[in-house]
Amino acid sequence: MPKNRDAEKRALARRDGAVCFYCGRTRKNPLTMTIEHLLPRSHGGSNAMENLRLADALCNKLAGRLSVPAKLELRAKWHAAEGL
Ligand SMILES: [Zn+2]
Repeated sequence: MPKNRDAEKRALARRDGAVCFYCGRTRKNPLTMTIEHLLPRSHGGSNAMENLRLADALCNKLAGRLSVPAKLELRAKWHAAEGL
């Protein structure tokens, strides 16, 4: 469902900006980014907007299957590293 995903990405970019949830870098085109489920689908996470964040494909992959607190910790660490 590429069209749905694109619409979701645009909606997330309107809400949060085309900013990677993890590293905090802004991207020109949110459609090149991936949708991160903060709480993974496999752990009962929903597709509701509040559970979704935009993230770079690489950052999303590195965050992998971390728990939500571990993801937030990683995000804080990377934001600090970027001086955000
Ligand atoms: Zn990133």
